Amino acid sequence: MPRAVKPSRKRDGRLGPPQGYPKDPDKYADPANWKYPVHTPFHARAARRYFNEPRNRVKYTPEEQAYIDKKINEALERFGVAVKIRDGKIEDEAGTIQADVPLNKDIDRMTFEELLLVFLGTNRLASAKGIDLSSVSVDKETDTLLSGRVKDYTVRIDRQEKRLEHDCVDFRTNRAVGRLMCKHLGAFLMRLDRPKATRLLRELLRERDHWTFE
Ligand SMILES: [Zn+2]
Repeated sequence: MPRAVKPSRKRDGRLGPPQGYPKDPDKYADPANWKYPVHTPFHARAARRYFNEPRNRVKYTPEEQAYIDKKINEALERFGVAVKIRDGKIEDEAGTIQADVPLNKDIDRMTFEELLLVFLGTNRLASAKGIDLSSVSVDKETDTLLSGRVKDYTVRIDRQEKRLEHDCVDFRTNRAVGRLMCKHLGAFLMRLDRPKATRLLRELLRERDHWTFE
């Protein structure tokens, strides 16, 4: 492996952080060009996928490639994302959202139930339906902000900030591996106005790489 050297400025590099992305260069695997952001598990995974493509790698010297690889891998490790490599290619873990996400053009045709199934999987969807609706409350339901409680847990979904906050153990431990929802979030979404919840899920699915789940 070549020695890792921080990439130099490239002709097609960015002059600053893209809108909505971190302003700290350290959150990028290529800090000089503001490329390959690795501030969330999803971005780290996306960075890994993009940087595996030869047409992206060739823009860098072998030493710079080693630097970017190192930063992406460190981020993945930090987030606890298991990276499986077979034949030099990264394999997505089976059963996570990455493995069975529909194409963008199909997302608009999906029903509420189908969307929930993508986020929850069969077992969690069944558990979500099993939650007594009396333990689910919605405090706020505006176009941009949805918040409430499910049992002892809080839920807060901010569409403006593209941020979903929830505090149960299942959600916390599994979001790093691409399971973005738990039974509580499922139950919460079922309590919402259905067309609004459907729009939100489509948006979440389409733009999941730009959302923060924590
Ligand atoms: Zn939960």
